[in-house]
Amino acid sequence: MTPTLLSSLTTSAVGGPAGKFVEARTEAEIIDAVRSADAAGEQVLIISGGSNLLVSDDGFPGTVIRIASEGFTVNAEDSCGGVSVVVQAGHNWDKLVEHAVRHAWSGIEALSGIPGSTGATPVQNVGAYGSEVSQTIAAVRTWDRERNAVQTFTNSELKFGYRDSILKQATVNGSPRYVVLTVEFQLPLGRMSAPIRYAELARALNVEVGKRAYANDVRREVLRLRASKGMVWDSSDRDTYSTGSFFTNPIVSAEVADKLPETAPRYPAGQDGLVKLSAAWLIDQAGFGKGFGLDQDGVAGGRASLSTKHTLAITNRGSASAADMVAVAREVRAGVERQFGISLHPEPLLIGLGL
Ligand SMILES: Cc1cc2nc3c(=O)[nH]c(=O)nc-3n(C[C@H](O)[C@H](O)[C@H](O)COP(=O)(O)OP(=O)(O)OC[C@H]3O[C@@H](n4cnc5c(N)ncnc54)[C@H](O)[C@@H]3O)c2cc1C
Repeated sequence: MTPTLLSSLTTSAVGGPAGKFVEARTEAEIIDAVRSADAAGEQVLIISGGSNLLVSDDGFPGTVIRIASEGFTVNAEDSCGGVSVVVQAGHNWDKLVEHAVRHAWSGIEALSGIPGSTGATPVQNVGAYGSEVSQTIAAVRTWDRERNAVQTFTNSELKFGYRDSILKQATVNGSPRYVVLTVEFQLPLGRMSAPIRYAELARALNVEVGKRAYANDVRREVLRLRASKGMVWDSSDRDTYSTGSFFTNPIVSAEVADKLPETAPRYPAGQDGLVKLSAAWLIDQAGFGKGFGLDQDGVAGGRASLSTKHTLAITNRGSASAADMVAVAREVRAGVERQFGISLHPEPLLIGLGL
């Protein structure tokens, strides 16, 4: 039988063969597939939309389990408590957001247009335009591979942080201890959005930061802004053959931030006076502009480059290998380190690859 290629399952369209491939369409099938692979002592890679993974050209020798469960159940809906909706892990995230906006379930509209599945959103606490899923997730039901039992985490037990959660922390060599089965969201009812926390979005909506807008308008503007940056998956746009942002925004001490030029964007990052920097700005200012690497004499022969619309995405121009993508990432990371002494960390999960 021809092996399934990870390149056919990922938005960067790179990655070699899967040792074994199983598609799980229901919660029972997910648990069954994970239990069987674990009982056989096989390595396990969980994949869903494949939009936050970069897999080596050698592929993955163990079992790749694709989470493809779909649908959601509304548990409660009233004007006091809002809506409680339990979503299957494989359900497409943006379809859920679209449904929420159409049915006046408020709170996730600013997360429009993010590719991938709902079950992956708590893993790295998916976020954009000042919003994060940690603001609306009530609970996550998982299969705990260590205890061979279902384990439910409440919001506070998930230990959400910037692109982080207990689910991500418990992932070792690409293999998660907790496999997400369902995610429960608690969303207020109403046509208005959550307060707009991101200046660029507030400007686009013509409202002040902290004010609300119609959720419909927020979704429309977020999709427009994201598309202009190549951040909405589109098979006809090579700038979207990526994992979205390749690097997280570095969080540094005030002392380190003070050494940067005054024009460097800075945002408060929680307690202890920590400061969040813009990885896109650092990359650009270190000399890696949009489209860096497109030149055929470039680091990956023009096969992989920074997006022509955003410096934070590493893109496959059509024939890139995973090694090409990593070559661009290494060059950019070394350049930022040289210029600013700041080390960038990858956002996607790297399987069989090191930076
Ligand atoms: C064009 C583009 C734009 C993007 N924009 C954003 C953005 O604005 N903000 C943002 O935060 N991210 C963004 N991303 C990254 C990505 O879309 C999100 O992280 C998304 O949630 C990944 O979902 P997925 O189903 O594709 O996960 P996958 O890539 O399949 O998996 C990602 C990780 O989650 C794990 N995982 C997946 N499903 C489960 C499960 N059921 N249980 C346990 N572990 C699981 C995988 O093992 C892996 O570690 C973008 C990506 C692209 C390509």
